[in-house]
Amino acid sequence: MAPEHAPTEQNPPSPPGEEAIRLRPALDALPAYVAGRPAPQREDLTVYKVSSNESPFGPIDSVRQAVIAALEGANRYPDMMNQQLRQALAAEHGVTPEEIVVSTGAVAVTGDLVRAVVDPSDEVVFPWRSFEAYPILVGAQGGVSRQIPLTETFEHDLDAMVAAVTDRTTLMILCTPNNPTGPILTTEQVRSVLGRVPSHVVVALDEAYREFVEPELRIDAEGLFREFPNLLVLRTFSKAHGLAGLRVGYALAHPRLADALLKVTLPFGTNLLAQAAALASLEPEVMALMTERTAHLRSERSRVMAGLAEQGWELPASQGNFVFFPLGEQCQEFTDFCADRGLVVRRYGDDGVRITIAEDEANDRILEVCGAWRQR
Ligand SMILES: *Cc1c(COP(=O)(O)O)cnc(C)c1O
Repeated sequence: MAPEHAPTEQNPPSPPGEEAIRLRPALDALPAYVAGRPAPQREDLTVYKVSSNESPFGPIDSVRQAVIAALEGANRYPDMMNQQLRQALAAEHGVTPEEIVVSTGAVAVTGDLVRAVVDPSDEVVFPWRSFEAYPILVGAQGGVSRQIPLTETFEHDLDAMVAAVTDRTTLMILCTPNNPTGPILTTEQVRSVLGRVPSHVVVALDEAYREFVEPELRIDAEGLFREFPNLLVLRTFSKAHGLAGLRVGYALAHPRLADALLKVTLPFGTNLLAQAAALASLEPEVMALMTERTAHLRSERSRVMAGLAEQGWELPASQGNFVFFPLGEQCQEFTDFCADRGLVVRRYGDDGVRITIAEDEANDRILEVCGAWRQR
């Protein structure tokens, strides 16, 4: 008979004859991913879901057409190697297709990366607060999260992050703009980190919100990628390209690392429609429209940030399509206050509340509700 295991939260004691499935004890320690709630319907006012950093714009027409056309082939498996898309992305970034990895969102690429480089009890250094998927992906693999607190201005504490690297560290994640707080890193800062981290440690640069950064402040990711073989650059079609529902993201990675990710990735993960949509999104006229849309959202971000500053708010500088309100113990009250006034926002415990810059009317509402909060 198999040995008895001590009961845990995941594996409570069970009477004979009842369900007694044994789950991994590591799951006890995993935080659950909290998705933004869907917007409830209301008769009296329009409710805006500004909780998930999604694009307020629907698919661009030619992308929609490409998806509909691809549907015709839905009886066949998609190209497991994502060849066409990888070629197009390689051309876009001036790298080779062997240096492009595609998966079902940047989250999935990050998960593949963790599976490729993190053994049980290996350490992963990342800032905190940051993207909530990181501790889940690391913990699920049995790795150890080294969460390095952000500075007072809600930025990465890069010195502390570098100092946290030990001989068990196999991965460091940088997130710029940092979700949920908003500040960016510069090319020089990232280069400095790469210069100080051992070359066997992979440094993942999560640029999910890159397109929302003012162009002159964007990182020279391709330049750094050529300079440092241990740099992996994460990008997604979910945010600026507005394809969050189709699930497709990618990374620039050294061919050896890219191969490793391919070994552990879910076969045929990136589906036919997602590949078609991503490919169509890279067409020059679609890119131009996307650029216009993100430029508009940037100007809306400026308008909202300026309005909030006028109301007396002191908030972290944001280069993402979102604003972070570090409200401490008032987070729940503020979240409820927003919900009552038709804004579904994202609360991060007692750290803060994140609100997405969305369609103009939603942004008007943000200003209105935040103003009312200050006046209450
Ligand atoms: C939204 C987001 C992603 C993108 O996730 P997808 O899986 O591509 O939808 C990645 N990193 C961060 C920090 C994000 O906020």
